[in-house]
Amino acid sequence: MTDDIARRPAYSEGQARALNTPLQPSVVYRADSPDALNAMYDGAAHGYTYSREGHANASVLASKIDALEGVSGGLMTGSGMGAVSATLMALLQSGDHVIGGDQLYGRSLRLLTQELPRMGIASTLVDPTDIASVEAAIRPETRLILVEVVSNPTLRVADMEAIIALGKARNIPVAVDNTFTTPMAYQPLAAGADTVIHSVTKLLAGHSDAMLGYVACASKEHADAIDGVIQTHGFTASPYDCWMAERGLMSFKLRFERAQENAAKLADHLADLGAKRVFYPGRTDHPDHNRAGALLGPNFGNMVSFEIDGGMAAANALVKAMPSMPFAPTLGDIGTTLSHAASSSHRAMTPEARAALGMSDGFFRISTGIEDIDLLREEFSQGFKALQG
Ligand SMILES: *Cc1c(COP(=O)(O)O)cnc(C)c1O
Repeated sequence: MTDDIARRPAYSEGQARALNTPLQPSVVYRADSPDALNAMYDGAAHGYTYSREGHANASVLASKIDALEGVSGGLMTGSGMGAVSATLMALLQSGDHVIGGDQLYGRSLRLLTQELPRMGIASTLVDPTDIASVEAAIRPETRLILVEVVSNPTLRVADMEAIIALGKARNIPVAVDNTFTTPMAYQPLAAGADTVIHSVTKLLAGHSDAMLGYVACASKEHADAIDGVIQTHGFTASPYDCWMAERGLMSFKLRFERAQENAAKLADHLADLGAKRVFYPGRTDHPDHNRAGALLGPNFGNMVSFEIDGGMAAANALVKAMPSMPFAPTLGDIGTTLSHAASSSHRAMTPEARAALGMSDGFFRISTGIEDIDLLREEFSQGFKALQG
């Protein structure tokens, strides 16, 4: 008997035709010969060698997101921040300067203002709704502009058309974090941007059980450079998370459609309940309503923010009065979640800096899910009632 428990049978495709993509948690792949291995490393033949450098579950998922974005050659990373970091590390070097939106995702802000300077890369944060401030920040050594279409958490809508035109005129690539907008509302590369980034963790995977990022570029040279950083720095995605996200992605469009309907109705309900301010790009009282309509069509998103009076005491009272509503610092889940800027995403900022961006201690952000709208209305009615009592 020569069978050994440590020896795997050669995996053979075609024995069974599973409906689902097989999960392949294999770090390493067998090759037929040194010549075959060389051909794969040279790119002359398709295949996998070592999973930090790519694997089937990542390829399958990336090609599905590629199809949604209308692009090719997208890359998976182990988190959304992995995709942001790999992009910045690949496209910038010491001495360069990057311009970022002043309401980027919290960790992206930290990357620009604290991590990149350690590597000799300077950054300037600007208001991306104001093209003059973007243009004024350009220096001779500016090599990248990083923006989110809809800002976090005040949901301002960037002047994407003008930013992309400016990037083209000044030969500066524009990278767009499309996490909040998703390819259903906006396709950055079709609009002329160089790079699209996603935290797949959020709406695309949609169930808060997989952490992943995605990045694709119009320029093959940029994509290859980012791929090199992913493989060398180890920003690799796990096969299991890719497999889970593929399952979640199948229902993404349905989830996003329903969540957006809920967001629009909930925003109106919060205004009716007497919230001090309601932020939703689909409402006519939103400062960027017209731009949102032109840019995103009917897809105003599933994020709604609102503000109440009464500072931290009122914020605590509201959350405690709605115990069935998950108070959790994330977004894009299949279920609605409520988060509070001052105690989570924007806790690193001083109260003054938060106030400058329009966030008091009574500022909340909702990521709507697919629940029955009546349940959501009821929960918030209950919360607001406690504030009046
Ligand atoms: C969550 C998020 C990220 C980071 O993604 P992770 O998967 O949590 O690393 C980046 N950008 C935006 C807009 C996000 O919401």
